[in-house]
Amino acid sequence: MIPFPSSTEVCIVGAGPSGLACALGLAARQIPFVIVDALEQGHNSSRAVLLQASALEALGALSPELSAELVSDGIQSKTWLATDPQDRPVFHLRMADLERHTKYAFFLLNPQHRVEHRMREYVQRGGNPIHWHKRVSSVREVAESAQYELQFESGDVLRARYIVAADGSKSFLRTVAGIPFIDPHTKKAAGPGPNDLSFVVADIVFEEPLPSNVPRDTLKMIVGTNGFILTAPIRDSSPSAGGNPAQNLFRVYFGVPDTPPRSPDAAYLQEILDTQGPGSHSALHAVAKIAKVLDSARYRTRMALVDKYVHRAQGGAYILLVGDAAHKHGPAGGQGMNMGICDGCELAQAIDEHRSAALTAEERGTRHDTVEILEAYSTRRRAVAREVMDMVERMTEVENGGAGWGPYFLLTALWFFFKMPFVNSWAACKISGLGHAKRT
Ligand SMILES: Cc1cc2nc3c(=O)[nH]c(=O)nc-3n(C[C@H](O)[C@H](O)[C@H](O)COP(=O)(O)OP(=O)(O)OC[C@H]3O[C@@H](n4cnc5c(N)ncnc54)[C@H](O)[C@@H]3O)c2cc1C
Repeated sequence: MIPFPSSTEVCIVGAGPSGLACALGLAARQIPFVIVDALEQGHNSSRAVLLQASALEALGALSPELSAELVSDGIQSKTWLATDPQDRPVFHLRMADLERHTKYAFFLLNPQHRVEHRMREYVQRGGNPIHWHKRVSSVREVAESAQYELQFESGDVLRARYIVAADGSKSFLRTVAGIPFIDPHTKKAAGPGPNDLSFVVADIVFEEPLPSNVPRDTLKMIVGTNGFILTAPIRDSSPSAGGNPAQNLFRVYFGVPDTPPRSPDAAYLQEILDTQGPGSHSALHAVAKIAKVLDSARYRTRMALVDKYVHRAQGGAYILLVGDAAHKHGPAGGQGMNMGICDGCELAQAIDEHRSAALTAEERGTRHDTVEILEAYSTRRRAVAREVMDMVERMTEVENGGAGWGPYFLLTALWFFFKMPFVNSWAACKISGLGHAKRT
């Protein structure tokens, strides 16, 4: 049993991708921290599957070995092909255009739980344990020592100057900091609304023979009149696979107009594939048949963004937001985990700069708190989130397809624009997040 400390410099609450990225950044800078999570162990559910070049670059700057291992765990999708149900191309995004800027000129298809597993390995390898089963239940300021005191459900107590709120979209710490989570459309606190999206994420093994319009090496999306279907091939690394991994394992996203069942079964998913999936309206291809559903879940998302990522308590302690605690949106373009990782890496750098500035001030005998360093982090990452959310919204409009002239013109215009090399390069840069990379 690892003893739980009573004080530290930084407490990271949440060991998801954002918290882990921040932990790696702090460890690289030798800043003492404690990372806690309410779960009993890392989660294992089907969520993100796409890692973008910007997250790989950010992690690679901290540990090139980690990025290399993430890449070798996954499948490199060099393109993203979208078609309509008749198999006519809607757009074909070619990531090779990024080769001049990054060695990660692809979408990395690697399930979130496996990405987190690798990140945890690297955090722990640096001698930093992850303290599971530690749910923060209350926080109070200790102004005399410029610290917060965190109380856990386990009864433990921890003091820290900085709290990193990496506790996901329902963030408790965001509430403690009094930072509202606002729907950018209604400008009201995020709640159920017309922009909510329902979708299903399932890990599916398809039967052999797999129709060739479900590629084993690239992302493929079908934009229908009733939602979208995205197939992402993934490597089978489950212990049960042994030496015989499933060849046709895919993570499949289904955009659905109605409320799906809580854990959709093979019959429900096959019906969507039969009516809207690849091959459903094509004489050339058969529809892929489901052999097995390994995991499935429904999700509902709505957009929300905080107005600031930083809260300074009167005595000079901080709550600093990263990842889903600060922004949430739909899954289009696979951006959430990616942004969270980049938030975490940048926040570690900002904390380092803030501490160094405080030390210098102390040496000079002044007590100037350079809050502007942390505010700059907040302003920059919020602007990135706003831009990404706009892009996700546009992508969601495309993915939702629909009947009538409006969607028809939108899809035709896309097909036309993506033929132009500079449009392709611009879109690849945007979606990869490289355009937002921090210049240091
Ligand atoms: C279906 C689906 C598909 C997605 N697809 C993609 C994709 O392809 N690409 C992509 O980039 N993103 C995708 N995302 C988004 C991505 O999953 C999230 O953006 C990402 O998980 C956010 O990471 P996080 O670390 O900020 O929060 P989380 O992963 O939610 O982690 C928060 C952690 O905080 C812990 N916690 C919460 N409260 C407390 C507390 N009080 N005390 C202690 N611990 C606490 C939780 O247990 C949890 O482990 C998808 C999301 C969904 C739902």
